[in-house]
Amino acid sequence: MTMATHPLGSTTLFADLDVSVELDAPLAQHTWYGIGGTADALVRPQSAEALATLLRRCSRNGVRVRILGEGANLLVADDGVDGVVIRLDAPCFKGLQLNADGPVTAVRVGGGRDLGKTIRETTAAGLAGLEPLIGIPATIGGAIRMNAGGKYGSIGDTVQSVGVVEWDGEERVYDRAAIRFEYRHTDLPPGIVTWAVLALQAADPVALRARSKEISEYKASVQPLAAHSAGCMYKNPVHPATGNRISAGKVIDDAGLKGTRIGGALVSQQHGNFIVVEPGARAADVMELAALVADETFTRTGVRLEREVVFWRRGEA
Ligand SMILES: Cc1cc2nc3c(=O)[nH]c(=O)nc-3n(C[C@H](O)[C@H](O)[C@H](O)COP(=O)(O)OP(=O)(O)OC[C@H]3O[C@@H](n4cnc5c(N)ncnc54)[C@H](O)[C@@H]3O)c2cc1C
Repeated sequence: MTMATHPLGSTTLFADLDVSVELDAPLAQHTWYGIGGTADALVRPQSAEALATLLRRCSRNGVRVRILGEGANLLVADDGVDGVVIRLDAPCFKGLQLNADGPVTAVRVGGGRDLGKTIRETTAAGLAGLEPLIGIPATIGGAIRMNAGGKYGSIGDTVQSVGVVEWDGEERVYDRAAIRFEYRHTDLPPGIVTWAVLALQAADPVALRARSKEISEYKASVQPLAAHSAGCMYKNPVHPATGNRISAGKVIDDAGLKGTRIGGALVSQQHGNFIVVEPGARAADVMELAALVADETFTRTGVRLEREVVFWRRGEA
């Protein structure tokens, strides 16, 4: 498609902005599933100002905007997505600052920064707080949006404040007290997390290293980390009698659904809550299998599963 005939090619959304733009950009290479179609436009703002202006223009022109982190909790439909997909790849969105004077109590991190890298740097500096998240692939922004975490804790446990550039292009700052961090969810308004301040504590380096090793080994032992997936497909459901969350993977296993397959997508034998893909799989295979597993689990066990993985489809928010 030429620039002139492209749905976003003739707009004046980006022409004069400090952004890099790729039209009809394949997204598979940017997601952990490694499948799915293109974005009408993949845009990488090179400054906070360019991001704000872009969002304002998209909002005024009715162009849908999506924000892509590391694509670790995401499935893109085979026919791709409309509108603009933004990535915070530029250095201005990937910074890490320790507080300058006295003992470090907080770090300010960019929304586009890799979580794993941040954990390695903070633990190497003898700072505890992020090690519960070892092994979770994410950007800081994606982790905060999803309140990523697990058995050892969630990112919300460390958050002091968050900067969100909302769809009107305005940055608003949310202090911890104003944010509800729930299981795999935050109530931050729609928009782009561009930075966060995280509270960390000085720790004994030897003990911190030992704890990090324990968490890393636990994670590798329970999840199929080498396979293409987006982590857990469903949230752990609440047990109707006890009110406690129970393992979705165990419920799926109890329903006898491990190994169920549609096309190139299958329910992992190692972890019932992972839908993994083989070469040649389509996003539609994963979507159909995810729906089948939820339906069959309900039929066989009475437990309703709620999806955790985000599906991006044309025409949908
Ligand atoms: C092998 C594997 C293991 C995993 N294990 C865990 C685990 O133990 N615990 C866990 O919680 N998760 C786990 N996940 C899921 C995933 O790592 C988390 O959900 C993570 O937070 C996704 O971050 P991301 O940057 O990749 O976001 P993406 O997948 O790119 O996006 C997810 C959602 O966040 C939004 N988003 C992304 N960036 C921003 C931003 N800057 N501002 C606002 N919204 C944004 C997206 O629009 C989308 O709605 C696992 C995934 C894989 C592949």
